[in-house]
Amino acid sequence: MTQRQPPTRSANGLAQPLGHASLRRANLALVLRHLREEGSCSRADIADSTGLHRATVSNLMAELLERGLVREVGTERAGAIGRPRRAVALDGSHVGALGMEINVDYIAVHGTDLSGRVLVERRISFDAMGQGPDRSLAELGRVTRRVIGDMKRAGAPPGGIVVGVPGLVDSGRGVVALAPNLGWHGLPLADRLREELGGLQVPVTVDNDANLAALAEYTSGVAAGTADMVSLTGEVGVGGGIIVGGRLLRGADGFSGEVGHLPVDPGGDRCGCGRVGCWETKVGFAALVRSATPDQAYGLDAGQGAVPTPDPEERVREIARGLAEGDERMVGAVAEVGRWLGLGGSILVNLFNPRVIVIGGYFARLAERLIPAAQAELEQLVIAGPAARCRFMASNLGFGAASRGAASMVVDHIMDDPTAIGSAPIAPDIAGQRI
Ligand SMILES: [Zn+2]
Repeated sequence: MTQRQPPTRSANGLAQPLGHASLRRANLALVLRHLREEGSCSRADIADSTGLHRATVSNLMAELLERGLVREVGTERAGAIGRPRRAVALDGSHVGALGMEINVDYIAVHGTDLSGRVLVERRISFDAMGQGPDRSLAELGRVTRRVIGDMKRAGAPPGGIVVGVPGLVDSGRGVVALAPNLGWHGLPLADRLREELGGLQVPVTVDNDANLAALAEYTSGVAAGTADMVSLTGEVGVGGGIIVGGRLLRGADGFSGEVGHLPVDPGGDRCGCGRVGCWETKVGFAALVRSATPDQAYGLDAGQGAVPTPDPEERVREIARGLAEGDERMVGAVAEVGRWLGLGGSILVNLFNPRVIVIGGYFARLAERLIPAAQAELEQLVIAGPAARCRFMASNLGFGAASRGAASMVVDHIMDDPTAIGSAPIAPDIAGQRI
């Protein structure tokens, strides 16, 4: 039996063999993904379909069973003759995936098991803008510890955590390079959260909130499966997640999608990033609140803590009530946001030719008023006109889109590297033939 290993590419571009540990990880992932796609299978079927040796599959299966990622599901008979074979299936019920988001005025949590069953889902009102990074990290740690406890009690402690942040994120190092609306610069969020969690050994990854929301929209939102789409987060800041040809566009440093800082009005207001006339100064939630309900504007009580910051849901409800009652100031403010939404949308359509622009966060709550104004403006401004065939759609994922996308990213991480969870050692392996 030959033990040839497939070549891979090193940083200098030269072919080199995969090490035993990485080959084993790749083979574990191969088997797990096969079960995810095909449902229950016998070990022999897996060997036939993947090209791995049967002995290798049995060895890999022992580890996946030990890690609680697969389970025996009785027997199946191949054809009319032959003895029944024991089948195995993916079992995610003992492993959790924790997605979180910290934004300007809330922390959102979405905890599932690997099969996608929702175990914890909540949004906690929190003034991260006013509290600064240290107190925000302490609160994020407190919420995370509590949710980990809840998931443990539900029988699925998290095998990983992904945290979404509204800003530029160096995902590889877990550092928030810049989150203008939180006032964070160079914050090592992954390390700091691990410190807050004390001895809990859970992998922590950080990503941009809009990218995570776009993944959630692409996999389970109103335009799920649309290969070319843009997802916009309607928060105090406005982020964009861009899906091109079914893949998230990240750019050279992972900084793409910062659509909220498109300079659309050189004579306009100062943005949280320090520049003037960014798109989010026209369509961000703070801009709408300032013109629709000026006495409730963001920042009026920043740092003092004497006046509790209204929850964003409450703010949206107040504006929706005003619209229903025909309050002229609110109707005018929302129509103005709609026009600017269409103007910025036209830039995105000219650049990326998406089929759909999904609008999330507060945009979705006010979509009935926003979309007609935005759609009309977009069709006037976009170079292809109606031929661009792009329409705005309201997200149905609410303020939880990013945390939901974060949880699904944890599931993907575990599928890619099942050894990242549990305590099973990496056993010496009989290397497989193909990965
Ligand atoms: Zn800006």
